[in-house]
Amino acid sequence: MAPPARKTRKSAARHVYGFAPGKARGGARDKDLLGGKGANLAEMCKLGLPVPPGFTISTEVCAYFYAHGRRYPRGLEAEVRAALRDVERCVGKRFGDAEDPLLVSVRSGARASMPGMMDTVLNLGLNERTVQGLARRSGSPRFAWDAYRRFVQMYADVVLGVESEEGADFDPFQGALEERKRARGVRTDPELTAEDWQALVATFKDIVLRHTGRPFPEDPEEQLWGAIGAVFGSWENERAIAYRRMNDIPSSWGTAVSVVAMVFGNLGPRSGTGVAFTRDPATGEKRFYGEFLMNAQGEDVVAGLRTPEPIELLAEREPGAWKELQRIQARLERHFRDMQDLEFTIEDGRLWMLQCRNGKRTGFAAVRVAVDLVKERRITPEEALLRVDPEALNQLLQPIFAPAELARARADGQRLTRALAAGPGAAAGEIVFSAERAQERAKAARVVLVRIETSPEDIRGMQAACGILTARGGMTSHAALVARQMGRVCVAGAGELEIDYRERRLRIGERVLREGEAISLDGSTGEVFAGAIPTRPSEVLAVLAGKETAGPVYRAYAQILAWADRFRVLGVRANADQGDQAELAVLFGAEGIGLCRTEHMFFEGQKIDAMREMILADGPEERERALAKLLPLQRADFAEIFRAMGARPVTIRSLDPPLHEFLPHEEHEISFLAREMGVSFDRLKAKVESLKELNPMLGHRGCRLGISYPEITRMQARAIFEAACDVARDTGKKPRPEIMIPLVATPAELALQTAEVRAVAAAVQAERGLTIPHLVGTMIELPRAALVAGAIAREAEFFSFGTNDLTQTTFGISRDDGAKFVPLYVEREIFEADPFARLDRAGAGRLMRMACEEGLAARAGLKLGICGEHGGDPSSIEFCHELGLDYVSCSPFRVPIARLAAAQAALRAGERPRRRAK
Ligand code: ADP
Ligand code: MG
Ligand code: MG
Repeated sequence: MAPPARKTRKSAARHVYGFAPGKARGGARDKDLLGGKGANLAEMCKLGLPVPPGFTISTEVCAYFYAHGRRYPRGLEAEVRAALRDVERCVGKRFGDAEDPLLVSVRSGARASMPGMMDTVLNLGLNERTVQGLARRSGSPRFAWDAYRRFVQMYADVVLGVESEEGADFDPFQGALEERKRARGVRTDPELTAEDWQALVATFKDIVLRHTGRPFPEDPEEQLWGAIGAVFGSWENERAIAYRRMNDIPSSWGTAVSVVAMVFGNLGPRSGTGVAFTRDPATGEKRFYGEFLMNAQGEDVVAGLRTPEPIELLAEREPGAWKELQRIQARLERHFRDMQDLEFTIEDGRLWMLQCRNGKRTGFAAVRVAVDLVKERRITPEEALLRVDPEALNQLLQPIFAPAELARARADGQRLTRALAAGPGAAAGEIVFSAERAQERAKAARVVLVRIETSPEDIRGMQAACGILTARGGMTSHAALVARQMGRVCVAGAGELEIDYRERRLRIGERVLREGEAISLDGSTGEVFAGAIPTRPSEVLAVLAGKETAGPVYRAYAQILAWADRFRVLGVRANADQGDQAELAVLFGAEGIGLCRTEHMFFEGQKIDAMREMILADGPEERERALAKLLPLQRADFAEIFRAMGARPVTIRSLDPPLHEFLPHEEHEISFLAREMGVSFDRLKAKVESLKELNPMLGHRGCRLGISYPEITRMQARAIFEAACDVARDTGKKPRPEIMIPLVATPAELALQTAEVRAVAAAVQAERGLTIPHLVGTMIELPRAALVAGAIAREAEFFSFGTNDLTQTTFGISRDDGAKFVPLYVEREIFEADPFARLDRAGAGRLMRMACEEGLAARAGLKLGICGEHGGDPSSIEFCHELGLDYVSCSPFRVPIARLAAAQAALRAGERPRRRAK
C-alpha cells in the first residue's frame, strides 16, 4: 500500500512525523501509521512529558520499500533531512558536528509490539571526529569511547550483519573485549579506561573490515540510512517472521522507524536507565513495579548482563527523578486506561521518557488488571471483557505445586536456589540447554529450558518448554517478558547457576545436574528444585471445589466470568463421558453436556468383556444376551452423569466407532483373549479379520452400526431412559437426555434409528409411569447431511455439528494422516490456519450455515449446537455466534474460555446484553 504519488513537491505525501515535548504530528491513535512506539512517543510529547525529540518514518514507507525492490518513495530523503534539522534546533546540537555532535537512536516499531524482534541502534552519529567532540563536551573521554564502541558493535550486528564466527556462542566483539580485560588484568568493564575503549574501537572496526570487506562507515548520513534500511529490512528476518506467525500478525502491517535524540544513562553516578510497569505484570497487583541500573545504557537492563535493582531504591538514589516518574506513571495509566510498560533514562539527574505501551502480562495479571480497572471506574465491564484474551484463562486453571510436596522438597534439601519469580505457575520437566533440543525432546516429554540468558532465537524452544530458567537477567529480561506472554513458567536471574553448554550440565554449589535430569520451577516464588515435584489443582479449581477460600486470583476469575455470562448469547456446554468429568464441567460453568461419547464407557473393567461377547455373538439372540449384561453397567454410568448434571440437558451419542476398535489385533493378544473368553483362537481371529477395514474412518461405524445391529441402539436407549427414571425418582430432578445419532448421511438412516429410540423411550416411560423430557436428534458431520439438512430436520429435533468429522470429510483429509502435511500447508500459507484447530469458515462453515438455514426452515425451534474440538476455540466460537447456534460444547477445562469468547463474540457483533434461556 504505497501512499498515493503526488505530482508537486509542495503537496507531496508525508512520510515523516516529528515529535518534541509539547508538540507532535500524530498520536496514540496512529499506531497503524507510526507503529506502537512512534505513536506513543508522539502521544507522550503531546502530554508535555519529557521525551527527547525525534521523528518517525511511517509504516507506509515500509510497504513501499518491499513493493519497490527495497527503494524509498521520492521525497523521503528531503523529509528526513528537514526533520533532523528540527531535532537539531530543539536539542541545540548538530548531527555530525565535530564540536558538539547530536547523536540519535534508530528504533523499529510495528503496530503490535514485538519485543526484541527487531533491533535498535544507539549512539548513531559517532565517528573518529565526533567522538572527540563528545569526549570534550561530556568531560569524559572514557564515556565517549565506550559509547563509540557500543555503537560500532550494535551497528555491525544489526546493520552490517556481522555474524558470530564459531557457532552461536562465540561473539567476536565480546571475545575481543574479554581479551582486552585479560591483557589488562581486570575482571569487569568498569575497570577499563578511555584508552582501552579507544583501542577496542579500533579492534572492532578491524573485525568489521575482516567480516564485510569494507571499512566501518564514518559518514553519519551514511550510518543513518544504513540503520533505517536495516530496520525496514528486519521486518522480513526469520525471528520477526516466526514471531508474527506465532501471534497472528499479518506481514502486510510493516514497521515504522523512529529516530530519537540520544539521552545518556551512562554519563556517571547521577545517570541511569530503567524499565517499569504501572502494575505488577505477573500478578496484576496494583503497585508500581520495575527495575533500574545506575550508570548504564538502554539495553543493559533488558539484556540481563547486569542484574538491576528494584525500582523503589530509585527514591534514595535520585529522589527528584523518582518523584517525577511517579507522577508520570500515574498520568500515563490514567491517560491510556490500561497498565503501562515504561522505559526511561535519567541523564545527570534529569528524567527522560523513552517508551510507553500497554504492558505485556500473564493471564493472571490480564484478568486482575481488567477487573480492577472496572472497579476503579477507568473502564467498563464490556471493555474489560474485550481486553482479556480468552486463552489467558488457561493459566489460571493450570496446576501448581502441592504445598505438602513443596514442603517436603524443601525439607529434603532439593531446593537448589531462589531467584526471580518471573512467570507464575509450576513446571516440572527434564533439563535441556538449547532451544533446538527443547523442540526435539518436547515431542516425548515435558522440558525445562535452561539458558544463561535467552534471545529471540530461542523463541521456538521457549514455546516448546513448560518452564524457562535463566542465570542472568531481571524481571524485564527477554526470558521474563516472553515467558509471561506465552504463559510459560519462568525463573530468571539465578546467579548461582553455572551453566556449561558444551558439557550440557549445570552446577549450583556442589550439585551438578545434567541434560535429561528432572528439575522443577516455581514461577510464583522463584524457587528451583532438583527432581520432579508433583502438582495439584490451581487456586481457581480448589475454590470451585470448595477446598479453599477465595483469594485474589479466584475473585478476579469469578468476576470476569460473571460479566461474560451477562453478555454472551451462546450457551456453553461441555464434552464429558463420565460422572467426574461432568462434575468438573458444572464447576466450570457448563450449562449442559454437549457430547457424551458412550464408547469410552465400554473400555472400563468388565464392560469391555461384555462388549467383546456382544461383538462375537452369532445372530441377534446371542447378541441380545450379551447386551443384557451391558445394560446395567451402562445404566449406572448414565445415572452418574445425570446426577451430576441435575436438570441440565445431556446429549448422548449412540455407539460411534467401528467394532474392531474393541478387539485386539496382535496374534498373541488374540490368543490370550480367546483363552480368557473360552472361544477358539480361530474363531476370534476370523472375527478380527472380518471386521478389518481399509478406511475405518469412512467405514462401518456411526449410525451404520445401529442400523446393522438395532439391538445395540435399543440397549443404549433403554439404559439412558431407565437411568433417567432412576435419577428422577431418587433426586426429584428430571434429567433431560438428548439422544444423538452419529454419522447420518440420509434422512432414511436417521428415521430408522430415531424410530428405535422413540419406541424404547415410550416403553420405559410407560413401564416406570414417568415422563422424561427428551429430544432425539442427529450430528451433522458429513457434507451430505448438511446438503439435505431440510429433510433430515424433519426427523431430528436438534442438530449438533460434529466439526471434526465434518472437517475431515469436507477436505477429504484424515485427521491422523494430515499431520504429515497440514503443518506444511500452514507454514506455506496454503491454509490460513490448521482447519482442525480453527473452523474453516469458507468450506465446512458454509455447509454449517446451509444446514442451519435449511434445518430451521424445515423445523421451527430446531436446536443447534457444535460438539467438535472447535467448540473451545475462540475464533470458531465467534463464527458459531454469527451462525446463531444455541450452544457450543468443549472440554471441561475450556468451558471458562468458551464463556469469555462467547461474550466477546456478542460484544463485537454489537449485541446488547440479554438474559439467555438456559
Ligand atoms: P525495543 O523495541 O527492543 O524495546 P527500543 O527501541 O525501545 O527497543 O530501544 C532499546 C533500548 O534502548 C531501550 O532500553 C531504550 O530505552 C533505549 N533507547 C532507545 N532510544 C534511546 C535514546 N534516544 N536515548 C537513550 N536510550 C534509548
Ligand atoms: Mg523498548
Ligand atoms: Mg464424528
